[in-house]
Amino acid sequence: MRDDKWLLSRLDFIWSNHFTDVPQINPVFIKFGRFARLRFGSIKMDPRSKKTYITITGMFKDLKVPQEVVDHTIAHELCHYAHGFSSPHSRLHRYPHEGGVIKKEIEKRGLIYLYKAYRQWIRSYREDLKEYYKRKRW
Ligand SMILES: [Zn+2]
Repeated sequence: MRDDKWLLSRLDFIWSNHFTDVPQINPVFIKFGRFARLRFGSIKMDPRSKKTYITITGMFKDLKVPQEVVDHTIAHELCHYAHGFSSPHSRLHRYPHEGGVIKKEIEKRGLIYLYKAYRQWIRSYREDLKEYYKRKRW
């Protein structure tokens, strides 16, 4: 079953295997959010408490979504943390997605297999989504 505890175990796995050079310098929480079809993950830092919150779409609780896709989303948010977005680390770029920095980071960290699995999944997912919106119109 995929719950918040499972999400935390995935975050721990990715962090301790691929982001060991990025120290956790503030409390970081991860949880499933609402069922969002288009936005899979987000990372925010509370400006007052300086706590970081990663939220993953509730859609990914579905076991039909490959684990690599969930891991890819977590890795993406961790890249933002490493780059100083929604984290106390110093900011490495002006914008969080500047010039493909996330993909480069994913690649550098030996996570390109996650990116590939994600690309493959998103292709068929977009088809499903098109069907879904077509049906909804009637
Ligand atoms: Zn992003």
